[in-house]
Amino acid sequence: MSLLVIGTLAYDSIETVHESRRDVLGGSATYFASAARYFHPVSLVGVVGDDFKREHIDMLKNRGIDLAGLEVAAGKTFRWSGRYAADWNTRTTLDTQLNVFERFDPKIPVAQRNSRYLFLANAAPGIQAKALDQVSHPAFTMLDTMNLWIDIAKDELLHVLRRVDAVVLNDEEVRMLTGERNLLRAAGAVLGLGPRYVILKKGEHGAFLLSSNAHFSLPAYPVEEVVDPTGAGDSFAGGFMGYVAEQNSFDPKVMRRAMLYGTVTASFCVEGFGVEALDGRSREEIDRRFDELMTIVSV
Ligand code: AMP
Repeated sequence: MSLLVIGTLAYDSIETVHESRRDVLGGSATYFASAARYFHPVSLVGVVGDDFKREHIDMLKNRGIDLAGLEVAAGKTFRWSGRYAADWNTRTTLDTQLNVFERFDPKIPVAQRNSRYLFLANAAPGIQAKALDQVSHPAFTMLDTMNLWIDIAKDELLHVLRRVDAVVLNDEEVRMLTGERNLLRAAGAVLGLGPRYVILKKGEHGAFLLSSNAHFSLPAYPVEEVVDPTGAGDSFAGGFMGYVAEQNSFDPKVMRRAMLYGTVTASFCVEGFGVEALDGRSREEIDRRFDELMTIVSV
């Protein structure tokens, strides 16, 4: 039974202080699927335009990602461009063109409607809700969002948040959503909005998991050379949820180990543009970095 993701497939243009790249394959669902597929079969639901390259479809298929729910619509693929400051922590969105994503009406293939695991990657909350409506009894649903949706669609977002088990947010988003400055209090306030688990992404400062029975903080894996942080959050979510789906358990120990796996897949992601460094790994390489991270964090 597969792990289902709904989100964007995109062509991103990225500027860093070292290098700029145009039309890199990206998108929230692409990053998630590229990380999660090391752990569990993944089905992807999304939309691309007729400009989406055949080689990118083939690449995703060759990685075992099920694309039965991928729609090809007339028009252009979603495009996003952003610039990173020298410290990597500040990202400025330069442009977002929804293109075919603007009219996206997600249709989950019948075979996937009984998926146990569902990730609602960054997308308009209305789209996330429509996807959620079509999955009958998921065991675990997780949602990602961004400042844009908290700004322009907060009520819809609050509505869909009440229906999911977990949410991933960065520090800016959790503060915007709750009005709390202190991150622990802010995460606690999110638990009051519906989800049973809150994951806070703090970029190079790591990640934090809060629930009624778990409170776990982890540094990022120390990467010697960051090339492009785009997709770190989605590939974290992919590693996290891929592992939970593989174990098919919500035991606190599994959730903690999933945090380590998410940290590992995110660390591979930032070592290259797009998915180029995350792609082409083996499970052994991922496990080796997992063991290294275990050593780093243990006393
Ligand atoms: P992350 O760095 O984990 O936040 O994810 C970056 C990816 O999210 C990029 O590949 C973008 O194409 C995609 N993205 C950016 N803005 C949006 C948006 N408004 N809705 C959905 N996906 C987006």
